Amino acid sequence: MNATNKTTSGSHSFQAEVAQLLHLMVHSIYSETDIFLRELISNSSDACDKLRYEALDKPDLIAEGSALAITIRANKDAGTLTIADNGIGMTEQEMIDNLGTIARSGTRAFMERIKQAQEAKETKEGGQLIGQFGVGFYAAFMVADKIEVISRRAGAAEANIWTSKGGDGFTVEPADDARAEAITHGTAIFLHLKPDALKYLEEDEIERIVGRYSDHIQFPIMLQVDADRSRQINKASALWQRSKSELTTEDYKEAYRTLCNAYDEPALTLHYKAEGRQSYAVMLFVPTTRPFDLYDPNFKSGLKLYVRRVFISESASLLPNYLRFVSGIVDSEDLPLNISREMLQNNVQLAHIRKAITSRVISEFAKTAENDAEHYLKIWESFGATIKEGLYEDRERKDELLPLIRFTTTKGETLRSLKDYVADFKENQTEIYYLVGESIARLKANPKLEAAKARGVEVLLLTDHVDAFWTSAMMDFEGKKLTSLSQGNVDLSLIPLLESEADKDKEDTNGKDVEEATLASLKVTLKELVSDVRASSRLTDSAACLVADGFGFDRELERLLARQNKGSGAKPVLEVNLRHPLLKAAAKAKREDQEDIAFILLDQSKIIDGEVPEDPAAFASRLNRLILRGMA
Ligand code: ADP
Repeated sequence: MNATNKTTSGSHSFQAEVAQLLHLMVHSIYSETDIFLRELISNSSDACDKLRYEALDKPDLIAEGSALAITIRANKDAGTLTIADNGIGMTEQEMIDNLGTIARSGTRAFMERIKQAQEAKETKEGGQLIGQFGVGFYAAFMVADKIEVISRRAGAAEANIWTSKGGDGFTVEPADDARAEAITHGTAIFLHLKPDALKYLEEDEIERIVGRYSDHIQFPIMLQVDADRSRQINKASALWQRSKSELTTEDYKEAYRTLCNAYDEPALTLHYKAEGRQSYAVMLFVPTTRPFDLYDPNFKSGLKLYVRRVFISESASLLPNYLRFVSGIVDSEDLPLNISREMLQNNVQLAHIRKAITSRVISEFAKTAENDAEHYLKIWESFGATIKEGLYEDRERKDELLPLIRFTTTKGETLRSLKDYVADFKENQTEIYYLVGESIARLKANPKLEAAKARGVEVLLLTDHVDAFWTSAMMDFEGKKLTSLSQGNVDLSLIPLLESEADKDKEDTNGKDVEEATLASLKVTLKELVSDVRASSRLTDSAACLVADGFGFDRELERLLARQNKGSGAKPVLEVNLRHPLLKAAAKAKREDQEDIAFILLDQSKIIDGEVPEDPAAFASRLNRLILRGMA
């Protein structure tokens, strides 16, 4: 975690990202200021969860006779709203670290996007972006111009007070006023409300917001009515323990927002109870929007493990990494309550649960794809590239995962499944063809498609980063091999040509001997640079292309790995179209011209693949030489 800069004793400046975020909060055109309360209650609930977990080993941490709860107090005279909890609390250092920095990486870039959306007055988008980001504690600066946080870590003697008016910084000092004395352990947040936010002091308003966003928080939320009267204003039920028939779509939406701290709507909800060898309740959600840091190595999944209603961990890896976007709760009846976080890794019961819920999630995707294809495509758009990671991380489930994958293909705009593809096989076609590259436009222009195009054969166009990886693992779908058009000897000759193309096949060639001599001459010239020069059966219009040998990595994967210095260093094969006029001319050309042509064929093939010739200046002068000779 980045430490903040300490300036003078007790004063600290915010990490730059926080200062920027606060600026956004204060000048926010984001209309839903209500969510500040939800954020603070959610933090309090987490703090209670953490203390309850620590107290499993050290029961003394929870003050005798006190039940974990969250209390809201409104003081109209002072214009302050207080949200207090008797949870885990924070030490001085924790306050400095947690309330002065944002630990998520990629934050700065993301904040720029929010700012742009807000400047362009795209309120809705701005709101959604903030939602993906989860502004947490800092949301309180939307309604308060000064915030005091008094906190005492459970088990610690001293309490501290964190104070800030937003802007650049905050102070942290020992707290010894009456407010601190009232806290045995936990945190109280005093919001000095802005003049236009005084409505949040009204009981009705507080109750409305808690009912809307925090009803299912597990701990009681108490509204302090006067000095010695308070009443509970949330249901505090473990919603996932209720039966499906009792819950409405609206309940699920709220559960998603409360339990997963989400702002969007769930795209899929999965709620069931498993009985038998293991008993557990599951309530899972697939978000609609992709979290901005889904691809960050430190991304934290929002899937929490509970044991008999007690929160245990949010890093129990209850689903494989490629389903990390699924959030929610798994509540086990059988695991021991005092299971340590380290033990979670190797627990057999947990491994069983993990396997079972992975299957359920995957089959839920399959069902949605079958019953509501349009909705499935929306999920696919957000999470498809992540699901594909499963194809190489979880080889055992390849046959379950492959049918879920949707592809852009040469066939047109709509995304296709492998089942669609196979149903449209051409006569004599036995394999599924694909090409991996950086963009659809570039792939569509790639000469390696020519033989397939000439036969009307559909080709999968793969542009996600993961595609180069999973395809390298020799896949088949229902016994049909997936074959790269940029690798090995692809032979489509058994598939009949389209009528419009059939004539090209009859074009004159130079005859076998001459062709072999041409190939040999090219090989001699390029001997250090390629592993072979071969006649191509995948080209019909272009002169040449580079492909990978039949074994080893596809060209695209090789390129990706080479960027990280992990390439195999394998040399490509140059394939040439012997019917192309340039190759025919090369056969008759002088030796020095043949050499220029050889290098130009190699370099132009690289350019077509989006690479740069090894020696661009030499490429240019060879090209110029040939043009001039042609004009002479
Ligand atoms: P997030 O909750 O997403 O981590 P926040 O900005 O809301 O982000 O909070 C930052 C951190 O501050 C929390 O992760 C937690 O460690 C700490 N924190 C906030 N509120 C409390 C609280 N009421 N009790 C204990 N710790 C808290």
